[in-house]
Amino acid sequence: MNWENRLSKDAQSIKASEIRELLKILEDPEILSFAGGIPDPQLFPMDRVRDIRINLEKNPAADRQAMQYSQTEGYAPLRDWIADRCSTENTILERENVLITNGAQQSLTLLSTIFLEAGTKLAVASPTYLGALQVFGTRRPDYITVDTDENGIIPESLEEAFKKGARLFYTIPDFQNPGGMTIPEDRRVRIIELAHQYDVVIFEDTAYRTLYYDAPPPPSLLELEGAFLGKGQWQEKGLVIQMGTASKTLMPALRVGWTTAPKIILDKMVLLKQANDLHTSTLNQIIAHELFFNGLDEHVAILREVYGKRRDAMLDALRQYIPNSASYTVPKGGMFVWITLPEGMDAKDLLEKSIAHEKLAFVPGKAFFADEKGANTLRLSFSTCSPDVIRDGMKRLCALIQREQMAQVA
Ligand code: PMP
Repeated sequence: MNWENRLSKDAQSIKASEIRELLKILEDPEILSFAGGIPDPQLFPMDRVRDIRINLEKNPAADRQAMQYSQTEGYAPLRDWIADRCSTENTILERENVLITNGAQQSLTLLSTIFLEAGTKLAVASPTYLGALQVFGTRRPDYITVDTDENGIIPESLEEAFKKGARLFYTIPDFQNPGGMTIPEDRRVRIIELAHQYDVVIFEDTAYRTLYYDAPPPPSLLELEGAFLGKGQWQEKGLVIQMGTASKTLMPALRVGWTTAPKIILDKMVLLKQANDLHTSTLNQIIAHELFFNGLDEHVAILREVYGKRRDAMLDALRQYIPNSASYTVPKGGMFVWITLPEGMDAKDLLEKSIAHEKLAFVPGKAFFADEKGANTLRLSFSTCSPDVIRDGMKRLCALIQREQMAQVA
């Protein structure tokens, strides 16, 4: 049976990520991994989750309700909490503007189905989140890539993309995955101006927004758009669709994310989600709501403290050991540092050597590019290792880069 012939064009276009295959090696406990962009499970609020379960059991009717089917839009108190958190002076979001999704990944899936078809012009940063490229890729859009520097999206390059006819733009303004960059406020304002000048819909992904280690990031694009349009205008004229997730601040296994959008878009997403999976786990939404509503600030303060120290350890070690011919970004939050290797050095080859000789893993950068660039880049995550382990790992990785460079020159 030739199954390939029987598949839809969209299904035929889905390819296994070479990188994900390579990273299967990470299941080996001997490998020191800076690859996964995952939160540290030691920081999960396990005691609080147990308390929430115990409390629910005290009320059998509510406990049973938590195991029942529920409405597609999501658990109303959680939607209200998000609407309230995302509302600003100029933009008041209502419950009807919020859809709870199965993680931000499902927000991306639903938005892809609603807005993309083969050939739709979609602007994305170089580099950008691999998981977003995977979802978008299933719809076979026509990518237009936007250049970045240490401050993220370069507005001139974005305007070029918009002039080339981009209809949509996906961006992670805070502590980007994979680059670690944060877009400063003046550039954000320019992005909003350009979106309205060229009539481009923006998908704003705020996955890492609360994980800041120095100062809070600048206002979100949604907030700035509210100021740009003036009070009460967003429902009618807004172009920013924002998504968030509980995965980075609480726990990924909750699979709780959300999208905020003007009602007409949200209604479409609700219908599509209903067709896909009916709703997000009722119990998990109740747990997420409890965790958000009670004690979130204290919990996130601990994450900032721990991750901040790990970030500092990685940056200190890189400052000390990285060869001059390579460079790295300085993230103010999130989980990632982005390395640019000397010209001509291939990060995939380096990974093979790094696993073989140092038992140390990272993600080669190429997969984060919608075009064929980035062979000499790589992503490091500092979220799961202690500062000492990070320092030792960076020392060894930098020594390997140095040896590779000597071998290239020789
Ligand atoms: N957006 C970004 C930028 C991410 O890094 C991730 C997770 N790696 C997601 C979205 C998806 O997160 P989730 O589906 O767990 O909410």
